[in-house]
Amino acid sequence: MPRPNLFLLACAGAVMMLLGGCASVATNTSHTFSTVVLDAGHGGKDSGAVRRYSPAEKTVALDVALRVNRKLRESQLRTVLTRDDDTFIPLDNRVALGNAQKNSIFVSIHFNDARRRGVRGFETYYHSPYAFDLAAAIEGNLLTLPRAANRGVHVAGFRVLRNAQYPSVLVECGFLSNRSEGGQVGSSAYREQIADKIAEAIVDYRYGEGVYQRQPTVLAAEAAAGKLPTAFR
Ligand SMILES: [Zn+2]
Repeated sequence: MPRPNLFLLACAGAVMMLLGGCASVATNTSHTFSTVVLDAGHGGKDSGAVRRYSPAEKTVALDVALRVNRKLRESQLRTVLTRDDDTFIPLDNRVALGNAQKNSIFVSIHFNDARRRGVRGFETYYHSPYAFDLAAAIEGNLLTLPRAANRGVHVAGFRVLRNAQYPSVLVECGFLSNRSEGGQVGSSAYREQIADKIAEAIVDYRYGEGVYQRQPTVLAAEAAAGKLPTAFR
């Protein structure tokens, strides 16, 4: 019988200790959660992306988070906001607030920026495997918006994902650096649509497809844009 390789065993032990000590393993609340922690990216002295086509990232991220907040509350989910005004909140405080909410999920809302102005589309990030389905549900739902581009669902080590105890996702709701997408983001009607898609994904993911009730204002806007079959107009 070959002797066990002590070096490999030691390495495995070190890795286990590292995982146990540093990375928090998310508790799988993806199908039981009763609270949604909404994290509007940036704020205060941290403006996030600043481009000419829309208000700063911190402003539009907060606006979308507040809209999602209203919609989730109307769907009887408890919500907690990491910020509800233009305040700088350190990343660790955001994570700590999220981890303090039992049976929750964490949804961080951002807008994207790229040097190449042609880059556009939605992308969603996660870290814990437990959060993949939720990330995919949000990304998939955003892709039902007119002219939406898919940049995929990816693993990332962002602090609000990596250190979260509960399933945590970060949604990049389009590129402020892209003239067309940034211009759309400047419109409150478009931000309402983004918020609606995110809220719908969360509610339907939790309670089953079709549970989310789209609000009359959104239905009217969609009908006006010719997006609904005549029966719904
Ligand atoms: Zn950001």
